[in-house]
Amino acid sequence: MKYVSTRNAENKVTASLAIAEGLSKEGGLYTPVSLPVVGDDFFRSLIDLSYQERAAKIMKLFLDDFTEEELAEYASKAYAGFDGPAPAPVRMLRDGVHFLELWHGPTCAFKDMALQMLPYLLTASLRKNGEQKQVCILVATSGDTGKAALEGFRDVDQTRILVFFPDHGVSAVQQLQMTTQRGKNVGVCAVKGNFDDAQTGVKAIFSDAELREKLSRKGFFFSSANSINWGRVLPQLVYYISGYCDLVRDGRIAYGDRINVCVPTGNFGNILSAYFTKQMGLPIAKLICASNKNCVLTDFLNTGTYNRCRDFYTTMSPSMDILISSNLERLLFELSGQDDGYVRDLMEQLKTKGTYTVTPAIKKALDDDFAAGFCDDEKTAVIIRDTFEKENYLIDPHTAVGYGVWKEYAEKTGDKTPVLIASTASPYKFCDNVLRSLGETVPENASVELFGQLEKRTGTVAPTPLRELAGLPVRFTRSVEKEEMISAVSDMLN
Ligand SMILES: *Cc1c(COP(=O)(O)O)cnc(C)c1O
Repeated sequence: MKYVSTRNAENKVTASLAIAEGLSKEGGLYTPVSLPVVGDDFFRSLIDLSYQERAAKIMKLFLDDFTEEELAEYASKAYAGFDGPAPAPVRMLRDGVHFLELWHGPTCAFKDMALQMLPYLLTASLRKNGEQKQVCILVATSGDTGKAALEGFRDVDQTRILVFFPDHGVSAVQQLQMTTQRGKNVGVCAVKGNFDDAQTGVKAIFSDAELREKLSRKGFFFSSANSINWGRVLPQLVYYISGYCDLVRDGRIAYGDRINVCVPTGNFGNILSAYFTKQMGLPIAKLICASNKNCVLTDFLNTGTYNRCRDFYTTMSPSMDILISSNLERLLFELSGQDDGYVRDLMEQLKTKGTYTVTPAIKKALDDDFAAGFCDDEKTAVIIRDTFEKENYLIDPHTAVGYGVWKEYAEKTGDKTPVLIASTASPYKFCDNVLRSLGETVPENASVELFGQLEKRTGTVAPTPLRELAGLPVRFTRSVEKEEMISAVSDMLN
């Protein structure tokens, strides 16, 4: 199976090269030339397997330069540190409403599902391509990717990892998680700007030929741990398929029944993974795309026009405070019949004018697969409180956005299809806003000090990796202007 760049259909590479490079040289995203066709029995054959076994079999379909034994080994190592009996359990709230809990990993957000796996895939990809240089992984984070990538790549041979996060754009717990990161090969830096500024800066560094050349002489090359890397997207396919199998195994649905999947999204990475499983034949009816007040995706899916020229809001679901959704590019490539010229043109319009409109045929295809809505902070707070008080389930603000959007969708359409909602973070990562939603008074900028209050209020327990933060020294305090990101990279590599 080959991977093709969304901006140059001539550029086709193996899976391991797509993962090693992260982003293609012309700035495109590598995406499968064709999705694996699986028979009706493929998903059935996974029902009685563990998550790790399911992961190896699913990833093997996409990674033909890896063996199933290799992938099984990576899966068993990657998910060994997760708490609880399964890495991504399904929690039934009531009949027909299920949450796929994706935050039982070491950094307590769904990014661990892929970023605990990516280091194995990436280092194996380097070996398979005879790459001797050190890979320097650059990450722009809206809060959770940075910590998950740092934790995944900490002290991994032949790798360096540098994370940029928006100053004042992440939660206090998220910031503490990153600035206290341990490890010899890690670096963390704040950027004066928002996530889009950080992501644009990282992409510019990627395509800076001079810097690339300079670092190459020093024995480094760049790669990405953002969801522009296929190695991030693929492990995320696994949990949607696994969630479906769990629903069948536990008798919630019959094999072949269709479900809806609802995903709180920002960069469109998580919901794109769900889309790919639908294309593979997983019985998904609607993909429900949930945004916060930065509802650029809601508007796009409802109108066919993407327009990033709008106010940017800092919300209580910071990991979705994004106006430029990178992974939408992969969807546009698919829906246009892999028309690289068309995608290049749209991306150019996005860069120069800040907006583009898709063709009526693509709009129709979007309508067939997707529904979309958004939830502002006020409504998110009500959802958190109601879900806890009436349904006895404590959810984080991102998950609450998903639940809120699904509720509105179900009321409006009368659609009774069972739903699987992606639960993307532990509520303890957003302790301050969760407590406020529950009606508690909370000081500004407090983080770990609040865990006890949330535990007492809700009778839940803070995850161990978050509790341990309280005793760790802060190692990284640097904050730079956007224009200084390049020199920050050079400094960190010296
Ligand atoms: C990253 C993140 C999201 C959004 O995921 P995308 O892949 O960017 O769509 C949602 N919730 C949480 C908690 C996250 O960390």
